[in-house]
Amino acid sequence: MKRTWRCFVCNDIHYGTQPPEVCPTCKVRRAYVEISSAEAGKACLPSPAPFTKDDFRRAIEDFAAKNEFQVNPDRERVATLIEGIFANEANHGLKYCPCRLATKDFAEDLKIVCPCNFLVHETYRGREKGACWCGLFVRR
Ligand code: SF4
Repeated sequence: MKRTWRCFVCNDIHYGTQPPEVCPTCKVRRAYVEISSAEAGKACLPSPAPFTKDDFRRAIEDFAAKNEFQVNPDRERVATLIEGIFANEANHGLKYCPCRLATKDFAEDLKIVCPCNFLVHETYRGREKGACWCGLFVRR
């Protein structure tokens, strides 16, 4: 069961089954105290500027640059998918996958927040495929 924790030194928020031994932000050992998820939400300072669709595109490009996959070079398809992801965030609170339906079970639906763990999906692992379910990410 995952819970939320806050570093008492720098207010880093961690979501997991255990707090990290060392805070990845301030490097203090054994710094985490458990808090409620509502408190965790309030402790996250709002970003200085809204996180736009261009920010999201840059974020997934940076994410992909460190991995074996890339953002689909078909920019039109990517733009359509990002529209869907942002529409889901506006309507349902999180950046849910634009191609799958949320179940309204929060823990279950976290599995389809974009980017999801598509490396384990047949659409990516299958020999001929190599793309996430929606085709936002493709193998290099
Ligand atoms: S299948 Fe692709 S578009 Fe859908 S959530 Fe996963 S990474 Fe995002």
